[in-house]
Amino acid sequence: MNYDHVLIRYGELALKGKNRKLFENQLQENIRSQLKDLNVKLKKTHGRLYLDLQGESFETVHERLKHIFGISSYSPALKTSLELKAIQETALKAIRSHSPFPKTFKVSTKRANKHFPHTSQEMNHKVGAHVLIHTDNLKVDVHKPEVELMVEIREDAAYIMSQKFKGAGGLPVGTSGKVMLMLSGGIDSPVAGYLCLKRGLRFEGVHFHSFPFTSERAKQKVIDLSKQLSRYAGPVTLHIVPFTEIQTEIKKHVPDEYSITIMRRMMMRITEALAKKHKALGIATGESVGQVASQTLESMHTINEVTNYPVLRPLVTMDKVEIIDIAQRIGTYDISILPYEDCCTVFQPKNPKTKPDRLAASRLEERLDVEELVKQAVENTETLRVTYEEQEKETIDHLF
Ligand code: ATP
Ligand code: MG
Repeated sequence: MNYDHVLIRYGELALKGKNRKLFENQLQENIRSQLKDLNVKLKKTHGRLYLDLQGESFETVHERLKHIFGISSYSPALKTSLELKAIQETALKAIRSHSPFPKTFKVSTKRANKHFPHTSQEMNHKVGAHVLIHTDNLKVDVHKPEVELMVEIREDAAYIMSQKFKGAGGLPVGTSGKVMLMLSGGIDSPVAGYLCLKRGLRFEGVHFHSFPFTSERAKQKVIDLSKQLSRYAGPVTLHIVPFTEIQTEIKKHVPDEYSITIMRRMMMRITEALAKKHKALGIATGESVGQVASQTLESMHTINEVTNYPVLRPLVTMDKVEIIDIAQRIGTYDISILPYEDCCTVFQPKNPKTKPDRLAASRLEERLDVEELVKQAVENTETLRVTYEEQEKETIDHLF
């Protein structure tokens, strides 16, 4: 079936006043950005968006729309003139395109155009009758039809739809501000990033890289994860922080059992510094309570001490199984399970303290030049911009 339009619906109920404008504008901008290489046109009317496909296929657009937050549902549509005959014929064409052919259907008409000569009820009957006359073995079922033929009567045209796809829900990315996402190569942090996006947050990724202890491939893995997340986020800015010197210093001066705690505190400080530099108002991580030694409440308490930025932990109460389930659905799982070492695994001590103490941690840090190490790390951070469609990444070091 050659659809010529897509009708896009968004969560009107939750929106009021000024928020609504912000939501609508951001959503339109995000859709345009995700479809910018296609020859399509987006228009807003009556609290809905209409996408004129102008010859592009619905399948191509479908693949992208389903990942855009803020969309509640969408339907491929056939546009037709406001003549009854044309509407009836188009509705028939729409139902005929279903394979297997349905046994039951109903017609639901929405009439925004009050000058249209027939009421919605009349249209339901007229279109329904036309379909029944021209098909075999098809019945009307108003309660649970297999196909709902949706007829929308607008000022200039009518739109006929017979399918409705669920959108990604949530809020359009960018309507809730920006956080720095601490992105390792693991399973959890990409999922945390995805959930931030779903609440309308934009993120910039921060990855700590310990070359040569961790390979170029470990870095590439994080770039690939960012690329996958950019399906939902749009272009992703990724900061790669050189972490070798800090880890070496920690190894040299800090007892094994506190090395993870101090390492995390350093990561947190650097991420906060990057947040300040790039005007983000929060930090997001993939932590979840009780998963590993560094994720006990005591540990979070000690690590969190070094920042007063809000630290968002979208996975905090989730089980690993739930997290893996989301990772698989969003396409990050297969990348995350590639074996390349993360900087934390390489320096993993034998007996990390599960209840690290704040005071002990800050005393041990006196052995390091914390301020200078943070400053150096921020200065030597490499910044990349990762997009989904481009295979090649564009390096924009020192652009900011
Ligand atoms: P993940 O699956 O996200 O790697 P994890 O279960 O391995 O998490 P930890 O290693 O304790 O747990 O890491 C907790 C969080 O700290 C990560 O989710 C991530 O947000 C952050 N983090 C850990 N290592 C790095 C790194 N090399 N670069 C950036 N952030 C990191
Ligand atoms: Mg990890």
